[in-house]
Amino acid sequence: MRERVQPLDHLLGSQWNIHDPEFVRLVRPLQQEVKDRGLWACHLGPELGGRGYGQLKLALMNEKFGMSRFGPIVFGAQAPDTGNSEILAHYGTPEQKKLWLEPLLANDVVSCFAMTEPQGGADPLQIRSTAVRDGDDWVINGEKWFASEAATAAFYLMMVQTDAEAENPYRRMSIFIVPADTPGIEILRMYGFYGEPEDTHAHLRLTDVRVPAENMLGEPGDGFVVAQTRLGGGRMHHAMRTLAQATRAFEMMCERAVSRTTKGEQLAAKQMVQEKIADSWVQLRQFRLLILETAWLADQGNDWKAIRKNVSAVKATMPGVLHDIASRALQIHGSLGISHEMPFAEWVINSFHIGLADGPTEVHKVVVAREVLKAVEPAKEMFPDYLRHKETARARELYGA
Ligand SMILES: Cc1cc2nc3c(=O)[nH]c(=O)nc-3n(C[C@H](O)[C@H](O)[C@H](O)COP(=O)(O)OP(=O)(O)OC[C@H]3O[C@@H](n4cnc5c(N)ncnc54)[C@H](O)[C@@H]3O)c2cc1C
Repeated sequence: MRERVQPLDHLLGSQWNIHDPEFVRLVRPLQQEVKDRGLWACHLGPELGGRGYGQLKLALMNEKFGMSRFGPIVFGAQAPDTGNSEILAHYGTPEQKKLWLEPLLANDVVSCFAMTEPQGGADPLQIRSTAVRDGDDWVINGEKWFASEAATAAFYLMMVQTDAEAENPYRRMSIFIVPADTPGIEILRMYGFYGEPEDTHAHLRLTDVRVPAENMLGEPGDGFVVAQTRLGGGRMHHAMRTLAQATRAFEMMCERAVSRTTKGEQLAAKQMVQEKIADSWVQLRQFRLLILETAWLADQGNDWKAIRKNVSAVKATMPGVLHDIASRALQIHGSLGISHEMPFAEWVINSFHIGLADGPTEVHKVVVAREVLKAVEPAKEMFPDYLRHKETARARELYGA
């Protein structure tokens, strides 16, 4: 990773631009080496044709991939393709797997997951794009927003409304495979953010986009269930890669602290610098252990929904950890830290990216609190049972005065 993959970050543009001749020249041989060593596309379980390493090992692998922008794609484990391949593996027909999943897993193509719409992403019930049944087809109309890699994708997994009247609002959406060359798909504008080499997030307009009925994944109304297939693992893998980025910032911070002197001593001798190092180390370890615990739980039950509290906790913790550590590393490097020579400003912005994509931090904190409180009974009386005098009385009853 450090010697052969990280250098690509300084030479190539978007890592999804897989047909760029320079990508072919530099990345393909590394991918082949990864395949030869049995480390390719390790995110799928054996029942889905993958290696079945499980989330715990994936966490440890992603902690290495995440050190480089190109790490995930060199190892066949890049978002959004990992999550999309999980969906196709679960819900695709044998023909769809042949047509879309196999080339996706081989990285012969890349894909896009288009769910968010301009009027509001944090509340998916606001999705207004529709698919209407017409004979053997569904006809899609609407707009999609911040659809990452839409311009390079061979196909989209698109979540749209199929039954606006369904009593349960979470049964109103369905997900379709939409080939990118289907007539009626228009890219209105590409959006990017500081630190990304190219603008890759698309605002799409869909006008009478016609797909065959079998392109619906799952049953009508299954959209949220199908989407969850990708979101649990997707959020976790993002967190694992974020841990890698925060670790790099931490390593740089430490090296600088022992390399730079001021007022006759190392920066590392200053207590406020020491506090930054200590706080960062503690945050990293806490975050890492929360990830590993969640990955371990995922391996036990194989059910993301059952551990959504943990996944949301990981998701909500990740932006703060990266933000804090990248900011402290920037500060300790002084003017050099804020300059384009250093990655810290990009990583600070990236901390906002990961606090938005796959749902804003606030929404995940709500999930954590809701899941925690689900198991809690209200007190039977006005004063809680754990008043000290009540506890003492119970203790005396048990053990005598
Ligand atoms: C880099 C990047 C890549 C993305 N890629 C994709 C993609 O490939 N496919 C896709 O479908 N989407 C993608 N998204 C969209 C992403 O999922 C949405 O940005 C996200 O869900 C938030 O939606 P929004 O931007 O519309 O913000 P809004 O819904 O407008 O929310 C704005 C802010 O309001 C606050 N807020 C919202 N809800 C609550 C709440 N319940 N309680 C408290 N505060 C709240 C939060 O601070 C939030 O950040 C991507 C986003 C980014 C930044």
